[in-house]
Formats: sequence, C-alpha cells, structure tokens
Amino acid sequence: MSMPDSERYRLISTLSGEAYPLDRLEEFAGSGESLEVSRVSSRQPEIHPGDHLWERFAGFLPFDEPELSVSLGEGDTPLLPSGAFLSEYTGSRNLWLKNETMNPTWSFKDRGTLTTMWMSRAMGEKVTATISTGNMGHSVAAYAARAGLQAVVFIPDFTPREKIMPIALHGAHIIRVKAPDYAAMKKQILEMAGRLNLRIVSGNGPLRVEGYKLTAFELYEQMRGEVPDFILVPVSACGHVRGIFKGYRELYEAGYIQQLPRMVVVQASNNAPLAQPIQQGKRVVIPFTQVDTIAEAITTGNPMGGDEIIDKARRFDWPAVDVSEAEILESQAALARAGLFVEPASATTLSALKKLIGRGTVKPAQKVVAMLTGSGLKDFDVFRHHDQQIHDCELHNMERTLEEIMP
Ligand SMILES: *Cc1c(COP(=O)(O)O)cnc(C)c1O
Repeated sequence: MSMPDSERYRLISTLSGEAYPLDRLEEFAGSGESLEVSRVSSRQPEIHPGDHLWERFAGFLPFDEPELSVSLGEGDTPLLPSGAFLSEYTGSRNLWLKNETMNPTWSFKDRGTLTTMWMSRAMGEKVTATISTGNMGHSVAAYAARAGLQAVVFIPDFTPREKIMPIALHGAHIIRVKAPDYAAMKKQILEMAGRLNLRIVSGNGPLRVEGYKLTAFELYEQMRGEVPDFILVPVSACGHVRGIFKGYRELYEAGYIQQLPRMVVVQASNNAPLAQPIQQGKRVVIPFTQVDTIAEAITTGNPMGGDEIIDKARRFDWPAVDVSEAEILESQAALARAGLFVEPASATTLSALKKLIGRGTVKPAQKVVAMLTGSGLKDFDVFRHHDQQIHDCELHNMERTLEEIMP
C-alpha cells in the first residue's frame, strides 16, 4: 500500500496560506477556503519513463508510488481535432476536443476519484462518502466497489431515478434526504461527518484536484509539449478547472513548459456564481439560489472555494462566459451532429467559444481545448427539447418513406 507522503507534502489554504497536514479529514480550511496539496521542499519533480501516465508523473503526486490496483482504466482519453463542422460553428480554426466521456463512468470525475480512493485506502478507512445528484456519486460508487470500500452517497429527494440506479447497483448505500435547500443539506452533512470521522469527498477537495492534474499531464504528452492558448471548462464545484491549471503550473515550475494556458470559466447563465463576478470584475462569488438549468452537472449555486477561482481569474487573466439554455441545447445538437454525444453541461464550452471568438477574446488561429466532461447518456430528460428525425411507417410504405428522405 502506498502511503500518502505527509513528510514531504502538506495542505495549504489557497488564499490565506494557513497549513494543515496532508491527511486532514475535512477537505476545506477552517475558514472555508479551498486547500491545495503543496510540496514542502523546493526540489522540483521530474517526469520518468513508465508504462502508465501515473507512473511517468508519479513525482508530481503526493504518494510514494502509484497504487493502480484501484484504477478502472481512467484517463488516456482521446484529444480530437474539432473537424470542419464544429470549426465553422465556433469560428475557431484550431479547436481540439478532450473527450472525457470515455472514462470508466463516462465523466472526468473518475480521475479525481482514483486519488481520493488512494487516500481512503492508505488511511485504512472502511467507508467513503459523497454528496451528489449524479456523476460524482456514480464515480465514487464504482471506485469504492473496486477498492472494497463501502460507499455512502447522500442525494436530495428530487434526484431522477436513472441517476440513482448505477450508484445503487455498485452497492453504495444511498441516503435520500428530503430537504428543500440542497446547500443547507450539504452544510449539515459536512458538520456531521467531522463528528463521525467520515471522509466526505466533494468536487473541490485537495486530493481530487491532484487527480485532475493528470489531465494537464496527458494533454502535455498528447500535444507534444505544446501549451494551448485557452482551455474551456464547464465549472461547478471548481475542482476540475483548479486541477488542470495546477497540473500546468507544476509543469511550468519544473521547467517543462514556458507558458501557462488561460483557463476559461464556463457556466450556464441560469447559474453563474463565478462567471458573473469574473465578467463584472468583482472579487467574490455571487450566490445563486433556485438554480434551474438543463446543464444539471453544473448547478452548484454557491461553490465552496469559489473566491479563489475568481482570484485566479484576475491574476492569470482568465475569461469567463455564461451561456443561455437555448445556446446549450444548440451546442449539444451541434456536437452530436459532429459525432460526439455529450451531456448539456459539457456542451456549454462550445457556445462559450463561439461567444469568445465573436468578442475577439479568442482569435480564430489560437489553439483551444474544449473539455467534453460527461456523456450524453447521463441525462435523458433533455431529449424532449431536441428535434428527432423519426419517420414512422409500415412495411408496405417503408420504401416510399426512405425515398422521401434520400438526398
Ligand atoms: C462535475 C462536472 C462538471 C463540473 O466540474 P467541477 O469540478 O464540479 O467544477 C462539469 N461537467 C460534468 C459532466 C460534470 O460531471
């Protein structure tokens, strides 16, 4: 069992710099700030040869050695050129799509679940828990099953059945809570967890972010060391955008790259607690309540640690964009027409890019990566908003029906 390396690593509050031990049970600082894994020594890590990405970049991770027995084969996802249709649609001539729907539970969450599971195993925990209405719960349930841990997933009672089923089938205990206010429910669970000595993994915890760094390392290899000008990320709890950027920063500090990508914070206009303040030049999260968007995976209305992302956006000149429900649907259809089946949250990046090209923030020739975060299979309810070319017929008029639609 690889132990977390608490001699050489610790957790640092991202804004105030307060330090905590690496194996801290709570994922946020006492002040509510997000925590970041930080190396104690100033000696820079190196990339080493190895069969697996985790092995090649082990020096960048706070574990003695990668514990890959818990892996379900996450990562190694395709980086695809956008193709002519999406290039035309967005106005970008240099767009690349990172297809994270190819992960074991069909979203990028798996990368971070692997690292939180390492930690749980290393700490000898028997139970791991999360609060989720969808992808996070599914990912944690699958990896807990793989690792031989009991998963507990808290869900609000409005969670649709198709999201619950995979979580249940993996053997997780589901605690379904009747609570009118999801944020209040989360808060109470986190307080409870401390008392019960239970690790609750959230979307923005420090160990999860270490897993998301691997996306940057993978992109670094796939692009042969070239750094994209922009990386568009649909943002909710903030872990993903934070993790990808942290990976690039560490490559930069270790001397492997000479520039940093600019991250683009993409949110739905109906829930833009970060995109709004960033666009308005404000310094703190603008909380949203009563969140109602078809982009179900990005509905955190008041993300913990969100102020830090706004701070980074200011320091590193990250643009932010919010997109309407109609734009999200249109982009989802456009991606599907190009052969890519993603959920609405993932489709936001495409309309966001179109807007940024329109505003002149992104030039058509600049190299852009759009993160396709989760699969279209995750959300069936959305299909009622889309046109479908279904031609009903009977055996006797089948040929005529076909003739009518032939080009
Ligand atoms: C979780 C999730 C996001 C948002 O990522 P955060 O790390 O919570 O900011 C975006 N898209 C999909 C499909 C997700 O599951």
